[in-house]
Amino acid sequence: STAQTRYNRVLLKLSGEALIGEHEFGIDPKVLDRMAVEIDALVGIGVQVGIVIGGGNLFRGAALSEAGMDRVTGDHMGMLATMMNGLAMRDALERSNIQSRVMSAIPMSGIVEHYDRREAMRDLKGGDVVVFCAGTGNPFFTTDSAACLRGIEIDADVVLKATKVDGVYSDDPVTNPDAFKYERLTYDEVLERRLGVMDLTAICLCRDHNLPVRVFNMNKPGVLKQIALGGDEGTLIEE
Ligand code: UDP
Repeated sequence: STAQTRYNRVLLKLSGEALIGEHEFGIDPKVLDRMAVEIDALVGIGVQVGIVIGGGNLFRGAALSEAGMDRVTGDHMGMLATMMNGLAMRDALERSNIQSRVMSAIPMSGIVEHYDRREAMRDLKGGDVVVFCAGTGNPFFTTDSAACLRGIEIDADVVLKATKVDGVYSDDPVTNPDAFKYERLTYDEVLERRLGVMDLTAICLCRDHNLPVRVFNMNKPGVLKQIALGGDEGTLIEE
């Protein structure tokens, strides 16, 4: 990366829900195009970008299970949903002329590549954006956990967790006018205060491997680049 950037390599976590946009369900390609612009700005200043994409816009195992389905089957459907989102993301990146690869934790020959950590590292070094889909490949996990896992594996400097709010708040700012935003939190504070930023597995993974997480508002134009250049957007979770 260039001298002025704070990070050499980042792991960006995009939730499936963010992809719905103006639609009621599924994928709004306009949202993906906006995300591609943001990602392009990061790539443009020499930051290596890995992306873990969620699937909550399509299916969530827990919700399917509550509706009566077998949980593991539901989780498999959730992971397949992340593959569809990964394909849509690649499509948007390609249309923006951003070199990219999609790797899936579950083999889906002929459609996406199978996740290979060393290959992913090589691609990242070569300047490709690598989109990781199918989560961890296992049921009972989330794509937040997958983001932290892949972040650790690829030796990312930070996990950038995209949300639609400005960071982590003490309470719901919509219902509680006294709610305030944290600038910084420790992993233990997130766990103890049950702040629900990410699931406990994800936070514990980051804590055990000392990988910082920044929670920020993806709807702010230019936000990713600003973060990479040292901006204090959102909430930083670290030791
Ligand atoms: N999932 C899973 N294992 C993983 C990651 C995801 O089984 O390692 C399933 C799980 O059912 C989850 C769904 O895929 O609900 C979609 O992922 P997630 O809910 O994390 O998506 P997001 O909230 O980020 O859109």
